[in-house]
Amino acid sequence: MIRLACPDITDAEVEEVIATLRSPHLSLGPRLNEFEQAVASYVGRRHAIAVSSGTAGLHLAVRALGLGEGDEVITTPFSFVASSNCLLYERVRPVFVDVEPETGNIDPELVARAITARTKAILPVDVFGQPARLDAIRALADRHGLAVLEDACEALGSAYKGVKCGNGAFADAAVFAFYPNKQITTGEGGMIVTDDDGIAALCRSMRNQGRAEGDAWLSHERLGYNYRLDELSAALGAAQMRRLDEIIARRAAVAAMYQRHLGGVAGVRLPAIDPGTTCMSWFVYVVRVGSDEPAPEKQRAVRDHCMASLRRAGIESRPYFPPIHLQPFYRRQFGYAEGDFPRAEEAGRTGLALPFHNRLSGDEVARVAAALAEALR
Ligand SMILES: *Cc1c(COP(=O)(O)O)cnc(C)c1O
Repeated sequence: MIRLACPDITDAEVEEVIATLRSPHLSLGPRLNEFEQAVASYVGRRHAIAVSSGTAGLHLAVRALGLGEGDEVITTPFSFVASSNCLLYERVRPVFVDVEPETGNIDPELVARAITARTKAILPVDVFGQPARLDAIRALADRHGLAVLEDACEALGSAYKGVKCGNGAFADAAVFAFYPNKQITTGEGGMIVTDDDGIAALCRSMRNQGRAEGDAWLSHERLGYNYRLDELSAALGAAQMRRLDEIIARRAAVAAMYQRHLGGVAGVRLPAIDPGTTCMSWFVYVVRVGSDEPAPEKQRAVRDHCMASLRRAGIESRPYFPPIHLQPFYRRQFGYAEGDFPRAEEAGRTGLALPFHNRLSGDEVARVAAALAEALR
């Protein structure tokens, strides 16, 4: 079986975790600080606040930005559901706009048209590791006095026009995630980055039950959560950060192998890289199949056929992403239907994630490519 994803853990990580396990600190210790410093300096931010998941990070960032009931935030339906759920937790209304057809990233022109008096922020997602048009989004936000919360959960290490995703040039706050299929992993984990001292202090307090920082007493100053990242996870993250450049290079090499093998295959559209993407830190490798079919039903049939053929050849694959507005909960809650965001829907119908991880061999890439070409013949 060629697996869709596989974490890349070396002896260095194992030893760091074991050393931490033998230490007196299993939570709120020196590893947390080490991991936070590593991410802050990598992205070029004043503050990094580690949390228990990317979703927890998005939730705290939404609260720290002061977003709440009656506010609107413009975001993309073509994403993992957490980038919109984090707004619902706080009764903020997600206002979806459609995406750019090639990259699947939020379209800034449509964002501009969706701004109302209730809009408080823009929440772009760097889909599959590719930066959204972060400069255009920042400019729009500045013109209208809005905050930018960047969901960079898939884009640690990517850069837009020479500036790293999550950097202060683009977003008031940004969030990374470390689930096992991401570029680096802590098992479960996430990280908020910001240059704003107030946002950072609020996030630190809220992840730790609303306590003041360094508080030895059980004094809870605000509503808080237990969104802490434990020391074992932080040790793993710190060790993975040391290998990040190597990991990004390895993933780029795997993507290049796919490109060589699939470049000439009829019926496969390769991932489009925008000229503004000056570094692509690959999260997943998603091709489009069936996109030359005119009817949605036919497109879906081609993709399903490819998935079934790959499965028979012992290869995992996955539709990527089913758009958020068509998820059962969102349909029920907001009445969305097919046709509301046609470009996101087409990307969702035709997108097929192929096995993609650091340890994928050239032979395996060749087998996946051959099986996909065979399915489309
Ligand atoms: C992974 C991811 C998250 C956060 O996921 P967690 O599993 O909570 O760490 C959020 N948004 C996007 C777009 C993601 O891909």
